[in-house]
Amino acid sequence: MSQVKSPLVTRNYHPETRLVHAGTLRSEFGETSESLFLTQGFVYDSAEQCEARFKGEDAGFLYSRFSNPTVAMFEQRMIELEGAEAARSTATGMAAVTTAILAPLKAGDHVVASKALFGSCRYVVEDLLPRYGIQSTLVDGLDLDQWRKAMRPNTKTCFLESPTNPTLEVLDIPAIAEIAHAGGARLVVDNVFATPMWQSPLALGADVVVYSATKHIDGQGRCLGGVILSSEAFITEHIHTFLRQTGPSMSPFNAWVLLKGLETLAVRVKQQTETAALVADALAKHPKIAKLIYPGRADHPQAALVKKQMRAGSTLVAFEVKGGKAAAFRTLNGLKLSRISNNLGDSKSLVTHPATTTHQRLTPEARAELGISEGFIRFSAGLEHADDLIADLNDGLELA
Ligand SMILES: *Cc1c(COP(=O)(O)O)cnc(C)c1O
Repeated sequence: MSQVKSPLVTRNYHPETRLVHAGTLRSEFGETSESLFLTQGFVYDSAEQCEARFKGEDAGFLYSRFSNPTVAMFEQRMIELEGAEAARSTATGMAAVTTAILAPLKAGDHVVASKALFGSCRYVVEDLLPRYGIQSTLVDGLDLDQWRKAMRPNTKTCFLESPTNPTLEVLDIPAIAEIAHAGGARLVVDNVFATPMWQSPLALGADVVVYSATKHIDGQGRCLGGVILSSEAFITEHIHTFLRQTGPSMSPFNAWVLLKGLETLAVRVKQQTETAALVADALAKHPKIAKLIYPGRADHPQAALVKKQMRAGSTLVAFEVKGGKAAAFRTLNGLKLSRISNNLGDSKSLVTHPATTTHQRLTPEARAELGISEGFIRFSAGLEHADDLIADLNDGLELA
């Protein structure tokens, strides 16, 4: 494990400042921009130094499956942004989620998770874990009694996303953390939809935070990545060896792209949130829309909770078009600016039909239970001007 640390600790600065400076390691050339260390391995001055490094007695890098200077910069920037003690990055967001859940568990353990999960997260909890003897219970994340009742003596991990995908429900992180801890379990939070700008799960009582860096952290649709943030003890005990030995490592190239993405995260997310709020207000009363959900609006079902645990709304807006799948498809096909995609958090506005994409694996009953109707559309605000996006959405809805 690398002990190489940036000389500048930015914890006392605001998040915007941390995003630009945290974790920067400069080489002997004194470069301004972070260096891309596109190397598999490292060479040593002597056999003694090599031995010391393998023993962990000499600070430095060994092999890029374990650690790499560019990857270390990305991890340190995330650590300081999130207020975590330690982090490890992964090749994708799903590698981060799978590792954070699976690595600490063994056959006979039990997991409780909210039903409203990103499709692949739900696969890991519902289908994958039971194959290895780890039972799981899915609950309605909004119902604290269901969390309490689902806890068993062998429950080791509770897992949730908030706001949820795609219905943007907001779950009570402090209350669920308390239930988990009372039962001797840890709480893992997938914070992708909130972004590190608007919600800090560790400060709210969670034990582990995971991100798909593919989304807002890159924010420009270029590469995949993931990161797990927690205490030094959790990372050392459960994550470090698992990642090092099984190898879902982040590429240094992707780490470099993501580092540069972090520099602009604050400006992008603030702008995208402002735009999403304008879009939500413009569409809320649209005659072709049956229901609109935006965490920043006073009519959001958990508006009080949003105020309590989030610093702002969201870059996403969800709405249900009257007339089911056919009307939703006509709307999507009528858009010129917002593009049809299953992604989110990009500088280009993206629209998704969850029932036929991210959540098509679920049965119609399971989708109905989550509130994902056939007319449901998820809108991810990009960096275009809000007026252009609103005009485009209105044009699309004309065809609904
Ligand atoms: C996209 C996403 C993931 C998976 O991330 P990848 O980088 O695509 O593997 C996990 N959780 C949520 C909430 C996501 O939106």
